[in-house]
Amino acid sequence: MGKRSRYDYLIVGAGLYGATFARIVTDRGQRCLVIDQRNRIAGNCYDDATRHHYGPHIFHTSSSKVWAFVNRFTTWTPFDYRTRAIVAGQSYTFPINTTTLRELGLEKLDTVDIPHPANMKEWLLANVGTTCYERFYEGYTTKLWGRDPSRLPASTGKRVPIWKGTSTDYYYDRHQSTPVGGYTAFIQRMLEGIEVRLSCRYPVAGIDYATLVYSGKLDALFNYRYGRLEYRSLSFVQVPHQLHQHAVNYCDKQVPYTRDVDYRHFGGSVTMREYPVLHTDHNVPMYPVRDHVNLDILAKYQALTTPAIVGGRLGSFRYLDMDKVIAQAMHDAV
Ligand SMILES: Cc1cc2nc3c(=O)[nH]c(=O)nc-3n(C[C@H](O)[C@H](O)[C@H](O)COP(=O)(O)OP(=O)(O)OC[C@H]3O[C@@H](n4cnc5c(N)ncnc54)[C@H](O)[C@@H]3O)c2cc1C
Repeated sequence: MGKRSRYDYLIVGAGLYGATFARIVTDRGQRCLVIDQRNRIAGNCYDDATRHHYGPHIFHTSSSKVWAFVNRFTTWTPFDYRTRAIVAGQSYTFPINTTTLRELGLEKLDTVDIPHPANMKEWLLANVGTTCYERFYEGYTTKLWGRDPSRLPASTGKRVPIWKGTSTDYYYDRHQSTPVGGYTAFIQRMLEGIEVRLSCRYPVAGIDYATLVYSGKLDALFNYRYGRLEYRSLSFVQVPHQLHQHAVNYCDKQVPYTRDVDYRHFGGSVTMREYPVLHTDHNVPMYPVRDHVNLDILAKYQALTTPAIVGGRLGSFRYLDMDKVIAQAMHDAV
């Protein structure tokens, strides 16, 4: 029989995917080492007493399995994310509901008959109509994604709810909460008793392990051999004002920022403004651009064989919410 490796798993990434995977395999007696290139844990969920450092995070899920898992590590406070949309200096109720229609002077959504929407623009015209598309989505989406909504997949439009009543809820899920004490403390508890090495970038020599678990960028794992998968990122700038609600969306194309978030409502102390930017080597990959060009590149990477278990938001090149990332890691760790 061969010699057993020092670690059963080398887990790249101390975000939610890596932490969940590490917890599950550790609980069943396997040995793992978690590494992260950053000098802190929690990936894009990282927060401190001032703010969530990578944009506001609201945990929402309808999965009882995921909900039971996260409740092992912290208690959760119910949280209803509330935002408004600003267009041409006017503030509107958002997500779109019957109050928004009244504010716009519309009796109903002026939807366009498009039986098979081929892209985000068509999906929105078919579902929110021309007025709401032009006011709330066209400029905002173009700024966030750096391209016209007609060049994005229909699925990107489906993330924001549209209500037929007066609800202003942002999510459809059964549980909508934030962790008491914050996300970093929650993930810290998940990693209790697990060896974590920070400021350590994969590939790294001299670690004896049996299986690689990788939650970094898929293209980087393969040395960008088919080119780079494109992401959008955000640049955050502190602004002095406070908001009555959690956030305000800025929908006009000529306004260079997309959102202000007041973290006082999240237990923090500042308001941050978000400017969408191109992802480069000097910022954080946030929103995967799943257009045809990138999906073609993605298919080539996914066709490559690797003995590694690849997951998480970057490994999957998908906009996955936290609950989906946890569910994916629970599935992969079995
Ligand atoms: C602006 C914004 C707002 C969001 N809001 C919400 C929300 O409200 N609700 C929600 O459910 N989800 C939200 N999300 C999504 C949430 O952030 C992700 O689901 C979650 O962070 C994904 O976890 P992960 O472990 O897959 O990835 P990450 O958190 O990105 O962790 C990956 C880790 O891997 C490390 N890494 C990568 N490559 C290497 C390498 N070569 N060597 C060593 N380490 C490496 C990185 O440093 C990083 O720490 C939001 C995301 C963004 C961008």
